[in-house]
This record gives sequence, structure tokens and C-alpha cells, in this order.
Amino acid sequence: MQIYRISALSDNYIFLMYDATQQIAAVVDPGEARPVLQKLEELGAKLVAIFNTHHDRDHVGGNSAIHDRFPNAIVYGGIHDRGRIPGQQVELNAGDRVQFSDRTAEVLFVPGHTRGHIAYYFPPRADEPGELFCGDTLFSAGCGRLKEGTPAQMVNSLSQIRALPDNTRVWCAHEYTLNNLKFAVTVDRQNPDLQARLAEVQAAQNQPTIPTHLGLEKRTNPFLRWDTPEIQAAMDRTDAVETFAALRQKKDQF
Ligand code: FE
Repeated sequence: MQIYRISALSDNYIFLMYDATQQIAAVVDPGEARPVLQKLEELGAKLVAIFNTHHDRDHVGGNSAIHDRFPNAIVYGGIHDRGRIPGQQVELNAGDRVQFSDRTAEVLFVPGHTRGHIAYYFPPRADEPGELFCGDTLFSAGCGRLKEGTPAQMVNSLSQIRALPDNTRVWCAHEYTLNNLKFAVTVDRQNPDLQARLAEVQAAQNQPTIPTHLGLEKRTNPFLRWDTPEIQAAMDRTDAVETFAALRQKKDQF
């Protein structure tokens, strides 16, 4: 399985999984149709699935036009997004499995950014790494805003993600890395991995930073580090959820 990263709207990424042997593809969070249809045409691929992580317009805005062009593609989304995802056919629960090509993904229920948010996790195989499509839950060096959920929900959601293997590739739906890192160094001041990462991203000058790797995120993303002494000290809290809530609030004002 190959994965293409397609830039869309102002700073969104749409991901296209592609099986070159069968010439089939599946798209994750098509915020707009045009660049997706263009890529499918270029590949000569048939679209078999649309996987949505949550209902926000910048993740589902292309659903209808893409489905018009590929009416046999199945439209997936979370059960708690019922009625909010255009064309949704399958309502997914935590632990459900979905397939593309010869890979099977597990559905994680990860509310916090929105109340019905899900993620798709393809476990690794001998020859291929694990892949996580997490929408706006985990960002590279950051996490989604709490639009419809609570800090406790988000800590629970990010805990599920943090439990996945380090070598998982993380396909976040926005390019926010540089700004996130600039914030991260203000709360995690003595972290050499984080300093190095900021320097690297600054030197790369606007090159895409997605996918990121979960191992790197665990070491450098403050929103996966609510239970470290460093972040707790910076937030002047000891409780995990309170630390996370203070951190999220500080980022909202950054
Ligand atoms: Fe978004």
C-alpha cells in the first residue's frame, strides 16, 4: 500500500491510499474533491472507499462530488457523526475493523476535538509500518482544539494513540508543525529532542512535515507528555487531566 499526501484548502492534508496491483484507492478526509479526483485520474485508480475521521467541513467537503464520480465507493464515518457526514453509509464504533486492499484497520474512538471523532489504525506488517490516520486529534507537535469535547476525553483519546508502537507513521490532517513546535519549546524548555526538532523544521523551510512518527511525538509533543515532571512543573499541576487542560488553554492563547 502506498500513501499519497495531497495538499488541500489552506493547510489541510488529504491522504490517498493506493494499491498499485489492483489499481484501487481509498481516500481519508477529502476536504475538497478536485485534487483527489485529479490524483485518481493520474494514477488511473478506482476509488473504493472514503474514510472520514469527523464531520468538520474541511474533512468532508469533497465527499459528495467524489462519490458522484465513484458511486460504488463506500463512505465510512463514526457512529456519533450520524447525520453530519455527507453520504455516510457505514457507522463505525470503537474496535470495528475496516479494510483496504490487503490491510485491515482498527477503529479508535477518539473524541475531544469533536464529539464523534474516530481514527483509523493499520497495524504494521513484516514489510510495512503501522499507519495512523488521526484527523484533528493528534497533530505533529500538537493536538486538536477542544471544540466539542472535554480535557478528560482528549487525554483518554491521546492515551489510546500513545499506546501504539513508536514506529507508527502518523498522518495528521493539517500542517501546523512549525507553530506547534514554537509553542512546545515554551513549555518543555529542557528537552533536547524538542530543540533538535524545532531546529530541523526551521531549517527545512516550509517543507511538509507529515507523516510524523509516533516515537518522535512521544518524545517531543507536549500534548502526549501531560504526565512528565517537566510538563507538570511548567503547568504547575500534578493531576494528568488538569495538566493537560492547562496546557491546551495555554496553547489556545499562544
Ligand atoms: Fe480540520
